[in-house]
Amino acid sequence: MARDPVCEMDVDEQQATSKRLTSRYRGQTYYFCCPSCKEHFDQDPDRYVGRQYEQH
Ligand SMILES: [Zn+2]
Repeated sequence: MARDPVCEMDVDEQQATSKRLTSRYRGQTYYFCCPSCKEHFDQDPDRYVGRQYEQH
């Protein structure tokens, strides 16, 4: 499982990949639950990367 960096839901990597709900940013791949989360991320990735580390 991966974590959607936008809404913080758990996302299945294979499902996200098959739906093309992934983004590459700074050498990392991010997975999303839905197209709108991917859009938010793509518009402003810096707002979302790193957040998951702060919260755990
Ligand atoms: Zn999401």
